[in-house]
Amino acid sequence: MSSKLMPFGYKQDLGESRVELPHNLGRRVGILGGTFDPVHYGHLAVAEAVRRALALSSILFVPAFLPPHKPTYAISAFAHRAAMLELAVAGEAGFFVSRLEAQRVGPSFSIDTLKALRGLLGPEAELFFITGMDAFAEIHTWKANRELLDHASFVVIGRPDHCQQSCGQTVAANFPGYTFVEVHGRWQGKPGQGAIYPVAMAPIKVSSTEIREAIRQGRSVRELVPASVADYIEAQGLYR
Ligand code: ATP
Repeated sequence: MSSKLMPFGYKQDLGESRVELPHNLGRRVGILGGTFDPVHYGHLAVAEAVRRALALSSILFVPAFLPPHKPTYAISAFAHRAAMLELAVAGEAGFFVSRLEAQRVGPSFSIDTLKALRGLLGPEAELFFITGMDAFAEIHTWKANRELLDHASFVVIGRPDHCQQSCGQTVAANFPGYTFVEVHGRWQGKPGQGAIYPVAMAPIKVSSTEIREAIRQGRSVRELVPASVADYIEAQGLYR
């Protein structure tokens, strides 16, 4: 484990288990959830683009224990996915991994993660939940979707040519009362509610699915994942 993941500054008892977060996340924290099976350069590029665009102090990668939208039989063990993430962020200042969702019984819903992080980081922290446009367009299917903005702002990544337009359609359909404020480049609701930020980014042609498939076929994935992750995949014999 990277030394910068220690010591832990935030702790909360959740029944018998104990959740811990790095102490130096800062005030403006981006949260990038996903399956990360495995983490790849697309994930790291999104994290970096959002951190720059919104001047965030840190990005917290949160691997899902049981992703609600994916068949669980096909997913690598949480320990492997989290270990690969920790290797991937080890050289990146301001990037951290939370194993928060490993503590949870049942599917990993975003609302539960955001509530837990809010509880751990306190009311002063500004949380930015990062999601792709495709997932955001399906937000009507997410658990407690109206409540999400009580705990965090949303950052929606989309293609440069129609990011704001696509995002605007989803906002209008799901978050009545939100209006676009040009000067801030975001949709805003009532005071105290999180904002919705569109962030345009050229698509990066890499996915975990493609990586798993390449390994199954015996092809190298060293251009798609950090070297430490490629070494881990080989050493553990993953995805063969
Ligand atoms: P899979 O291929 O197994 O479905 P994935 O590569 O899409 O996985 P996830 O772990 O599901 O990876 O993604 C986590 C988050 O990262 C999601 O919000 C997803 O939209 C985003 N993401 C994944 N790949 C990219 C990419 N190439 N460019 C931009 N965002 C990405």
